[in-house]
Amino acid sequence: VERTLSIIKPDATKRNLTGKINAKFEDAGLRIVAQKRIHLTKAQAGVFYAVHAERPFYDELCEFMASEPVVVQVLQGESAIAKNREVMGATNPADAAPGTVRAEFAESVGENSVHGSDAPETAAVEIAYFFSGLELV
Ligand code: ATP
Ligand code: MG
Repeated sequence: VERTLSIIKPDATKRNLTGKINAKFEDAGLRIVAQKRIHLTKAQAGVFYAVHAERPFYDELCEFMASEPVVVQVLQGESAIAKNREVMGATNPADAAPGTVRAEFAESVGENSVHGSDAPETAAVEIAYFFSGLELV
C-alpha cells in the first residue's frame, strides 16, 4: 500500500466542505490514516511550495494557503498517489473531469480546494513536513 499527503485548502475549509471532500476520498477506497486542522503561516506555506518559488503565482499561492486554516491528511491505499490525483481532478477546475473534487468545488486554478502529492518521493517529504512518526500508525 501507498501513502500520500493531501491538503484541503482554505477555499474549501472556509465553505465547510471537508466532509464532502473526505467522502469522495473514502468512496474511492482511500483511507484517511492521519488528519489535522492547522493554520499555516505564509512562511510555512512558502517552504511547502518551494518548488514553485520561481513561478509568477508563488506569492499569491502562499498568501492563499495562509489565509484560513487547512486540513492536512495522509491518505492510504493501493496506488494512493495516482488515485488521489484522479479524485482531485485537473489543476484548473475548467479542465477537471465531472465528479472530481475540483470540478465540483474549486473556485479557480489557484483556489482549487485540494492538494495531493505527485510522486512517492514528494509524498514522503510532504508527509514528514506535517506529521511526526508518532502520528502515523
Ligand atoms: P497541487 O500541487 O496543489 O496538488 P497541482 O499539482 O495540480 O496542485 P501544481 O502545478 O503543482 O498543481 O501547482 C500547485 C498549485 O499552485 C496549484 O494547485 C494551484 O493552487 C496553484 N497554481 C498552479 N498554477 C496556477 C496559476 N496559473 N495561477 C494561480 N495559481 C496556480
Ligand atoms: Mg503539484
